[in-house]
Parts: sequence; structure tokens; C-alpha cells
Amino acid sequence: MAMPSVAIRGQRSLLRQIREALASGGPAQTRLDTVVRIIARSMVAEVCSLYMRRERGDMELFATEGLDPGAVHVTRMKPGEGLVGEIMRLGRPLNLSDAPNHPAFSYRPETGEDPFHAFMGVPLLRGGRAIGVLVVQNRTERGYTDDEVEDLQIVAMVLAEMVAGSELEGELKGVEIAPHRPERLIGSKFADGLALGVAVLHEPPVAPSQLLAEDVVAEEEKLKTAIAGLQAQIDTMLEGQHGLVEASYEVLETYRMFAHDRGWNRSLEDAVRNGLTAEAAVERVRSEHRARLGQARDPYLRERLHDFEDLADRLLRHLSGDGHAPRELPQDAILIARNLGPADLLEYDRTKLRGLLLEEGSSASHAAIVARALDIPCVGRLTGLRDRVSEGDPVIVDAETGEAYLRPRPDVVKALQARLEVRLQRRAEFAKLRDTPAFTRDGAKITLLMNAGLDVDLDILEETGAEGIGLFRTEFQFMVAEEMPRFNAQAALYGRVMDAAGDRAVTFRTLDLGGDKVLPYMEAEREENPALGWRAIRMGLDRPALLRLQLRALIAAARGRPLRIMFPLVASVDEFRAARALVDHEVAWAQRRGRPAPSRLDVGAMIEAPSLIWHLDALLPMTDFVSVGTNDLMQYLFAADRGNPRVADRYDFLSPPALRALETIQKACEETGTPVSVCGEMAGRPLEAFVLVALGFDRLSMPPAGIGPVKQMVLSCDREAARRGVQTLIRGSAGTIRNEIETLARKLYLAI
Ligand code: PEP
Ligand code: MG
Repeated sequence: MAMPSVAIRGQRSLLRQIREALASGGPAQTRLDTVVRIIARSMVAEVCSLYMRRERGDMELFATEGLDPGAVHVTRMKPGEGLVGEIMRLGRPLNLSDAPNHPAFSYRPETGEDPFHAFMGVPLLRGGRAIGVLVVQNRTERGYTDDEVEDLQIVAMVLAEMVAGSELEGELKGVEIAPHRPERLIGSKFADGLALGVAVLHEPPVAPSQLLAEDVVAEEEKLKTAIAGLQAQIDTMLEGQHGLVEASYEVLETYRMFAHDRGWNRSLEDAVRNGLTAEAAVERVRSEHRARLGQARDPYLRERLHDFEDLADRLLRHLSGDGHAPRELPQDAILIARNLGPADLLEYDRTKLRGLLLEEGSSASHAAIVARALDIPCVGRLTGLRDRVSEGDPVIVDAETGEAYLRPRPDVVKALQARLEVRLQRRAEFAKLRDTPAFTRDGAKITLLMNAGLDVDLDILEETGAEGIGLFRTEFQFMVAEEMPRFNAQAALYGRVMDAAGDRAVTFRTLDLGGDKVLPYMEAEREENPALGWRAIRMGLDRPALLRLQLRALIAAARGRPLRIMFPLVASVDEFRAARALVDHEVAWAQRRGRPAPSRLDVGAMIEAPSLIWHLDALLPMTDFVSVGTNDLMQYLFAADRGNPRVADRYDFLSPPALRALETIQKACEETGTPVSVCGEMAGRPLEAFVLVALGFDRLSMPPAGIGPVKQMVLSCDREAARRGVQTLIRGSAGTIRNEIETLARKLYLAI
């Protein structure tokens, strides 16, 4: 039997008619009635029905041509209920020749749909969410062709955008176009604090400015050029011509596979051929992937969704021709991202950024460190975050508990404001302690220093009352720059830091690049294990020109003042010896040119590689000081990548092996009289700092926000009692002794 032709191929006029019907005045209901009539006529279908999502997630029949009009606003389907509910749940089309025989079919007598067999339904997708379902039905048992399904999907896409974008949204009371109910997501705290603001998407979906193409051939051409551009870009990235930036090789390989994927390209081409602009086509295909893969339980498949998303964003950027222009932030912005590199975060205007929410990430990653350094509250590992929040939504970052509130209720906002007030008061209390030296109750002086990395941190130095900068991460300047900072820029920054610090000592750490700290403008070779790879001092020694330039800039900036230099990730005494020789060489070089040598030069090593723990007897006599980088030391000690959320927090620093390692270092330094500090993030957490003080460390360098709370802890601490308690605990056999240490802290009335 000949199939009735329902194809709308080439009939872009249908889309225009829909647009006109929706834009015409009159009640929303009349306009929707017109729309379903137009679609039914155009697709030669006896029935066309539009279901819209209600606030509670039900789908309600909003308009129909062909079913009983009395069912409108009466018939409702829950997610997963009936064929409509199934389409909504799966987010993908259903094409059935005999619908009543489908197991999900749910008979609704009020609709009078008994005589209809052929059924084709597609979701109205927005941002990967089904906000409605569009159905056509025919009496005959027939299968709709793939082209017809594609056509209806395009109609559905255009309809979704128009319904959402028009004033209809206001009239369609109770319809949930975007998520707008309050939600609470539970994640992990990465950087302490509280914030209230508006959501800003790090990679916003680029809205297709125009949905319908004026000139299909021109759009096809545009799409072709953009795809070719995208493929070439990914190929080039893979060849390492522009460095691998943050994307790992495997991800790029997958991108390349997708970018060249015939299915993906064909879907895009089809959508354009059917009358969409190239941008709208990308959105449509992306929306479909998102809906389909978002359902996947398999983490691998969900990961692939992110790849597609990223690829779609890249393609949209190719189409719009706008590269990587930094985004303007509104006041009180809360940045929403899947994950972020430290450099990405530093690109944003810090004066407007109030908080950061990440779908993934890890608290030991450098993005989290940067967030802490900038005092930006950050919560990570918020599953499903990006699908649940729209640009401009009010959002709360509760990094005290590790939660995010999306579109919070007024009482939640009020409670948060009260807590913010308390925090301000606590800050005021800490500020009062600013000039109080940190002595324990039994008289031990603990020197509290600040970690810094940019000159914006310098104002904070005054505020916190830190006694100096125990770790200046020089690579941050490199990470925020567009290109490699030259000698003058480096020397100028170091000079400003020393000027601002005045009499307070600053310990400059030489460039610590590699691992998760990559420079977009520096060629990077692919490495299987970047954390174990060519990084930090290894790079410095292999490329001495870069390190020497930096040392020269430091010596010049000191202008005869005292200078402290520290090398990152030293793993053998030979490395330290070689690095120190470079310093001596540069000092001699400056002197030969009649420039002042530093009045005092202290050269130290970071203890981050466990190997040094068993060679402290050789290392310490060569150094003027050492600083324990517990972030890296623990990652290597426990063999757990600090950037990998699956393993980063698996092991507790408050555990016998970690604390015994620290005890060994402290004892060796004490015996040799070598000044030692701890500059990893743990030094800024009061409970961890308490244990460090108990182990005998008396120099702690930390993120600025840690200084007040740690000082309060120190002032309340009886070091001798703490030492006795901790000594017993670290000899025990438990994997973690956090609870026991908390109990000890309570017993000692510690202020934490
Ligand atoms: C550390 O590893 O503890 C450290 C202070 O250095 P970074 O976090 O910059 O690697
Ligand atoms: Mg380190």
C-alpha cells in the first residue's frame, strides 16, 4: 500500500508558519491550537498533539488536532508513563507502526485515540531536557521514515525555542521550560566559604541567534567550512603544534574520532538541509546527544557526552568566528563548570567572582588551590550540576558543608545571609588577632606565613597579619599571561612583591610547571603520567635558560636586599646541587656587571618527593632551609593522583604513615638546625595545623583565609599536651586517626 507522503522536506514554509502563528497576538491556547493544526496538515497526519512538562514533571496535553478536545489539560502522563512519558524519560523519539501494542502504551479513554495505530513522538528538547513532547498519529499501521522523524525533530526543536523564547512562557502557567524549582546538590568542599550570587556558565551553550536559514546552500557551505576548521584544529592539537593545553591526548583522540564521525556530520548536514541554520543544527544535534547519553548509566558513555558537548561548543565557536574572548561577569557571579584549569579561573574578573561550583574536580587540584588563594568558595563533584542550572539562576555556594543550592527558597537565602553575617563577625575577630603573635599557651612561637602567587595577593598580606610569604608560586604569573613573561615583567613582579612585603621575608619558588600546571603557549609533549613526568625543577634543569632568566630576574628585583629562593619537586640531592649552582652562577654574573648581590641569600628545597626523606642527612647540610609541600608529598607517598577525584581524597593526611613521614622530616631538621616550614594546603586547616604544631613544626605557610583560624587554634593550644597525644596516636594501627585527633582536640579545649 502506498504510504501517504508526510515528508516536509524542503517545506521550510512550515517552520515559518509556526513562527508566525506563535508570534501572532491572541491567547496562548489559540496560538498552540493553530500550531498543531498546521503541523498535522503539513505532515498529512490525522492527529498532532503537543504535551508540555508541568512543574511536577508530568506531561500534560496542551493542544491537539484530531484527539478529543475535551482531553486538553486533562490528560497527563508521569515521566515513564505511557508512550509520551517514555519519550520524555528517554529524551528520544519513538516511531511505532502499531502503538496500542507497545508495552508502554497507556490507554486514555478521554482522548478517543483508539483508531490510531501509527505513532511518532519526539521530545521538545531545551538544554538536553525534555520540556514537551510532540506527537503525530495516523490511522493506518505504517512506519514513519527516518526522514520524517528527522523532520518532526526539527519542528520540535524550533517549537521548543519559540515556546521558551516567546511571551508564551508567561501565559503557559505551570509549564516548566527551564528547571526553576529549588534544588540542593551535595558535593565536596574545595575552598571554604559561603556565597550567594547568579549562575554564570563557564562554557555557555551558544544560543543559535537565528534558527531558520535564509539561504540553505550558504548554510551548508558555512557548516562544511566550520567542520573542516574544527577537524584541522583538533588534528593540529594532536600533532602537538599548539601544546595540548588541558585536554589530554586520549580526549583529543576521541574528539578527532567524533569530529570525523560520518554519523555526526550527517546529522548536522541533514538538519541544515531541512532548513536550520548551521548554529541551530549544532544545537539540535547536541541537544539530542545530551538527552540520549545523559541517560546512560555507564560513566564511560556519560564521559563521551562531555566530549560531544565540548566538540559542539568548539564548532559553534568556529561558526561564530569568536575565539576565546574572556567573558564579562555580572556582579556576584557564581561560576559553573564541569571542571576548570587554574589558568581558566584566573582569567575571570576576581572583583566580581563570588563562588565556584564544579561538576567534577578535586580539592587538591590547582584550580582549587587558586580558588583558595583568591578566597573564592568552591564546591566540587556536584553530579548533574550543569543540566540543572541555567545562566542567571540564583545560586548559593555552601562550601562549609559542601553543598550547592540552585534557585534557593527565600528562607534558605535568609539563613545563608545570617551565616554570612556570622562569618563576617568571625573575620572581624580574626582581624582583631592580626597583630597578636601566635604563641601556644605553653609559650611556643609559631610563625604563620602566607602562600601567594600574584600581586593581588599583596593587599591581603597586610590584612591577614602574616609574618611573611612562605611560598610565592611564581608560575601563576606565567599561567595568567598570554605569552611567556619576559625578564622585565618577571623582575617587576618580584620587585613589587618584595616592596609590599617590606621587612617580611618572601620565599620565591622557582617555576613549578608541568603536571596540571600547563601553559597554553608552551609546547608540551604528551605524557602518560604528567604528575610523574617532566615538571618543576626537572624542566628547570633540562632547560636552564628559562630557570636562569628567572633567577636573574629575582636577583635584579632584590636590588641588594635579602633573597630567598626555593626549588620545587627536588627528588635527589644532585638536582638540588645543580640548581643551587645555577643560583651561584647568576649571583656571580650580576656581580661581574657591578650589580648588587643579595645582602643575604637563602636557597632551599621543597620536600615533595618521598625519596628525600631517606636522604635528609645529605640534603639538609646543603640547604639553608626546606619547606614541606604536603600536597605533592602525599600524592607520591600514597601513590594517588591529587587531581584525580576518584583517588585524591582516598587517603587521609591524618594517618600514621603520613604523620610519621612528617615527623621524620621535622626531627632531622631539628637535629641539623635547618629551618623547616610546611607550605602545603594542610597547614591552613586548623585541625591539621594542630597536628603539625604537635609534631614540632613551627613555621606554617598557608592560603590567606587560613591564617585567622589557625592563629586562633595556636593561641588555644597546649603544645606539650598536644605532642603527647599525637605521639601516641601515630604509633597506632588505624588507617586514619582523624576521629581520634578530633577527640584529642576537644579534650584539650582547642579553638577550631
Ligand atoms: C605542595 O605540593 O604542597 C605545594 C605547596 O606545591 P603546589 O601545591 O604548588 O604543587
Ligand atoms: Mg607541589
